[in-house]
Amino acid sequence: MYFGIPKENHPGENRVATVPATVTSLCKAGHVVMVEQGAGEKSGFSDAAYAMAGASVVERQEVFRQADILFVVRGGGNNHDESYEKDVALLKKGAFVIGLTEPYAPHPIYESYARAHARVYALELIPRISRAQSMDVLSSMSNLSGYKAALIASDTLPKLMPMLMTSAGTIAPAHAFVLGVGVAGLQAIATLRRLGAVTSAYDVRPAVKDQVHSLGARFIEMKLDTDDSEGSGGYAKELGEDFYRKQRELLSDVLKDSDIVITTAAVPGRKSPVLVTEEMVSLMPWGSVIVDLTAEHGGNCELSQFGKTIMAHGVTIIAPANIVSTVPRNASLLYARNIENFVKNLFDSAGNLAVDRGDEIIDATLVVADGIIRKDTLRISSG
Ligand code: NAD
Repeated sequence: MYFGIPKENHPGENRVATVPATVTSLCKAGHVVMVEQGAGEKSGFSDAAYAMAGASVVERQEVFRQADILFVVRGGGNNHDESYEKDVALLKKGAFVIGLTEPYAPHPIYESYARAHARVYALELIPRISRAQSMDVLSSMSNLSGYKAALIASDTLPKLMPMLMTSAGTIAPAHAFVLGVGVAGLQAIATLRRLGAVTSAYDVRPAVKDQVHSLGARFIEMKLDTDDSEGSGGYAKELGEDFYRKQRELLSDVLKDSDIVITTAAVPGRKSPVLVTEEMVSLMPWGSVIVDLTAEHGGNCELSQFGKTIMAHGVTIIAPANIVSTVPRNASLLYARNIENFVKNLFDSAGNLAVDRGDEIIDATLVVADGIIRKDTLRISSG
């Protein structure tokens, strides 16, 4: 098979979908790999390194025209480069496109894929089952996001993180609070603790309490009915405005003593709940910092402006866009490994393409095939 890896053209996207080590293993399995010139330059993988690994380094059009299987980072409504439609029109009939495609809302790109008779696999929809753990791109990327969020917060805070004994007396440690203890939240807690902050956290899924304690942080108990808060795959459910109103009231007390707040409270496919209002921000200590990792999907903080850092009431509110692109080297290595593990699932043990549409992972992720958009929620007419 011919594998194609284009250069990511979305503004600010520094990752690449495949690294030289993955090229080597695809070539060993008898495939041909074509990498667009400069595809890995922003993540430190040179054309020469891809060529050494066995790839042909070619022009963009060639990648789209010849690939049977295309690996991308951004392959849907999350690619804002205007030329993306033209690239899709070049695809071979039946070509596979595998990547993050923002499969939550309709977008014209899905119609273009259907017209091109491409098969599109949205990696966001990988089910959270043990067999798919090594393919879970959301998880690997969230890990990096949580880590970077803690560093950004610490770097912005006009205070130190740990308790320090100095000749002039003792400096009190910073107090950090993490809202939403999924993959990003756990990594943020671990990193804040390593940096020396006194850290606490809250999640609507009570199951995470032990994980918070195991990292040396405090789980904040709130009088909220969370018995039915967990949906399928370990994700949180949308809980309704009444619930969120009560939650905001209880959170106010926590926030007014927090120097750092990292918010990660997300509900897949939905707008993130607003859990931090302007009034709550106004009660926070001077100089405190909020890093909102959910801003792309609406934001947990009402003041967050996606991709921007603003100041309000003496508080810095950071809503980073594509935070993982600030560590493109690691992010690309992890992404490449996840995607390689995913693609193995499309081949049989003899190395032949053998896509089993009944397979849970394939059925969940295949959003376009045979000229049709398979998920109702992605069709323009349904949106
Ligand atoms: P996510 O990014 O969708 O959400 C982040 C966190 O926000 C979740 O823990 C969620 O419960 C929490 N949240 C939502 N609404 C909230 C609210 N109102 N207040 C407070 N917190 C709120 O989730 P994620 O990080 O992708 O993972 C969620 C779970 O899935 C975790 O338990 C994780 O360990 C598990 N997981 C399982 C697998 C697997 O089995 N293959 C892989 C990755 C993650």
